[in-house]
Amino acid sequence: MRKPSPTGAPTWKQAQTYIDQLFAAEDRALSGALRRMERAQLPPISVSSSEGKLLQVLAHAAAARRILEVGTLGGYSAIWLARALPRGGKLITLEIAEDHAAVARKSIRRARLGGRVEVRVGPALRLMRQMIDGDEQPFDLVFLDADKDEYPGYLRLAYRLTRPGGLILADNALGRALRGRDGNGVIRCNQIAARHQGLSSVVVPVLGKGIDGLLVSVKLPRPKGGSR
Ligand code: SAH
Ligand code: MG
Repeated sequence: MRKPSPTGAPTWKQAQTYIDQLFAAEDRALSGALRRMERAQLPPISVSSSEGKLLQVLAHAAAARRILEVGTLGGYSAIWLARALPRGGKLITLEIAEDHAAVARKSIRRARLGGRVEVRVGPALRLMRQMIDGDEQPFDLVFLDADKDEYPGYLRLAYRLTRPGGLILADNALGRALRGRDGNGVIRCNQIAARHQGLSSVVVPVLGKGIDGLLVSVKLPRPKGGSR
């Protein structure tokens, strides 16, 4: 099973298998969510199990009671995240496609998380603006994973929706940044995060189908440099 690479150095595949088996094994609810997505012909673009576990660990680190997810798909990452919530905690997840939301709701119910998770259907930017206008309680953690062209907008709105000290995370922050031309949404989002006076940020490479990464940003209690 642990076949060495031609150079004898461990491979990324081995690293992923090791981490997945030891830290991020899927139970029936998670593997069932993936199967349900496949049957409904949803695209196979959920986070990997090790990235799902990373999201969960970060939610624990933020002592998250309120989580916002942008981009639900079949509910796979929502299940990883919602499992970090304490009793009475809440995850709101935004999804533009009715059929994706329906699949997600079913898997979330099967994972017995229906009481903690609310799937809202609509365009994320509009739903996030409505939350700001409606004085939605701040979130401890916001996870961005919807339309990559809209990432800069998501980041700006997420900043306003996150409590000081809270976390803003964005999936797929590396693959497109390395492949893409200047100016795509992911590149601009990373640039905003890197330069933002109110955020401390880094992209963490993650193992999945290829090279990609998770943007991890902390909303600083006091912005750098004092002003702004
Ligand atoms: N977070 C999920 C994967 C999300 S895939 C997981 O890892 O399990 C991206 C999802 O964002 C898709 O379901 C897509 O329909 C949705 N999406 C795309 N554009 C959107 C928009 N403008 N507003 C809300 N959701 C959007
Ligand atoms: Mg993604």
